[in-house]
Amino acid sequence: MLIKSQPDEIQSFVEDSSHVRGGFAERVVFPETAEEVAEVLARATRDQTPVTLSGAGTGTVAGRVPFGGIVLATDKLNRIKNILYDERGGRVTAGAGVILRDLQRAVESEGMLYPPDPTERSCFLGGTVATNASGARSFKYGPTRNYVERLKIALAHGEVIDLRRAELHADRRGRIAIPLPSGTSIEAQLPTYKMPQVRKHTSGYYVAPGMDLIDLFIGSEGTLGAIVEIEVRLLPKPEGLLSGIAFFPSEEDLLRFAVEARQQSLAARGSSLTVREGVEPAAGQLDARALEYFDLESLGFLRQKYAMIPELAIGAIFFEQETTSASEDTLMNKWLALLETNHALLDESWFATNSQDQAKLRDFRHALPVLMNEWFARYNQRKVSTDMAVPDDQFAEMLKFYQDALRGGDLRYAIFGHIGDNHVHVNILPRDDEEARRARDIYLKFIRRAVAVGGTISAEHGIGKLKREYLRELYGEAHLREMAALKRAFDPAGILGPGNIIREALL
Ligand SMILES: Cc1cc2nc3c(=O)[nH]c(=O)nc-3n(C[C@H](O)[C@H](O)[C@H](O)COP(=O)(O)OP(=O)(O)OC[C@H]3O[C@@H](n4cnc5c(N)ncnc54)[C@H](O)[C@@H]3O)c2cc1C
Repeated sequence: MLIKSQPDEIQSFVEDSSHVRGGFAERVVFPETAEEVAEVLARATRDQTPVTLSGAGTGTVAGRVPFGGIVLATDKLNRIKNILYDERGGRVTAGAGVILRDLQRAVESEGMLYPPDPTERSCFLGGTVATNASGARSFKYGPTRNYVERLKIALAHGEVIDLRRAELHADRRGRIAIPLPSGTSIEAQLPTYKMPQVRKHTSGYYVAPGMDLIDLFIGSEGTLGAIVEIEVRLLPKPEGLLSGIAFFPSEEDLLRFAVEARQQSLAARGSSLTVREGVEPAAGQLDARALEYFDLESLGFLRQKYAMIPELAIGAIFFEQETTSASEDTLMNKWLALLETNHALLDESWFATNSQDQAKLRDFRHALPVLMNEWFARYNQRKVSTDMAVPDDQFAEMLKFYQDALRGGDLRYAIFGHIGDNHVHVNILPRDDEEARRARDIYLKFIRRAVAVGGTISAEHGIGKLKREYLRELYGEAHLREMAALKRAFDPAGILGPGNIIREALL
């Protein structure tokens, strides 16, 4: 097994996209099989050595930044094993270290679609499962969780379990029992909190009455076990795609357009929460798979790279709609009509119907978080970026709350993201430590407001080390202790993902 310990060789493994500094580790190990992963963990448990699991390091909450111990890198678990077809699409089995972009390309070349699409596709499949990642397409397809069918997981004491969806459930009282290959089992009690009723949620352990136990590991951020191999479900690739970036001269018009596009899309699917799997909406119905927001400040940043953004634009919406050759013209006309009614800057908006142009529009969407991350790196500041989602009827007020707190102030900021899922990222951009302190005070106000209206504190990036204290705002201390007790059942020595989700003192 490859082991690296020279500081210059391991530096990139002790940081991630959070820009949290000061991470350090004795060494980075690169196992190539589930057995090697298990061996590393068993030894670490014996020696009480902390183990931080590492994907591609695109996480934004310092989940893979170690403060001591070793890093277990999944880079060499990078094989796509097999792609299978069935009448609903198919399945693919892959190692945790497969790059998401490579997996998507591989299945798309076979005529299938793997819907989860965090904006940064250089992440690893294992990282996306560990954080239950989602992205623009989650408006139609939901998060990674919806696609995970089987997980091979190495546990802290060195046993490997293979969990298939629908095989093991919690009982009505939240007791769980996971049989182990050695003949023993892990028994534990699930925390008793109720998760917020929002379209996306990745804040602490997933808990629901009678839940499928595979869901416990999805979004557990490297604290319950090392995900080694994953089987995910695939859907048939849509025949065609229509994308657009529509610019608006007034915020009122932009928000009305977003609300109407959203309502029509949900109505077309006949469900307010998720698409009915495999059921196509009635042909020719407007049905966005992505609805993404850019505010005026976001456009200001993007103008550095895209001089052709119209001068009059105060904001924009990026949308995608799946089409067929029969429905493409009708759908284009429907979108144009909706844009016209809502006074979009139609002549200056951008539309794409071929994959090359669509990639350019996605690059535009991707450029914004990259510019934000560059800012945090340039000013050597920790990321201050909200990730809250709120229930449908609370979004308009929540957006106004964000704007009122920031508009007219001296802090730079940008608000953008997944408006279809009531989930925008407010990036507050400090230039020095004093601004960073103020930014974090504002952030806390946002967190309290989101919790007060029934929202979640993290919809897609997870808790990591940066958002632990906010979990208390969401669930309260007693429930944090329940989470700690659950973790101890899987990891009695407390070696896995130290500092992630649960602060050390509770363990
Ligand atoms: C520009 C940019 C845009 C982004 N946009 C989005 C977005 O739209 N949606 C979204 O959801 N996220 C987004 N992210 C965040 C990030 O891409 C996702 O969280 C991604 O899923 C992390 O994957 P990774 O492989 O980089 O994981 P890492 O950063 O390496 O790790 C993330 C966490 O998972 C744990 N982990 C990693 N691999 C394993 C494993 N095999 N077993 C157990 N635990 C493991 C780590 O310990 C850590 O706690 C964005 C990031 C950037 C930089």
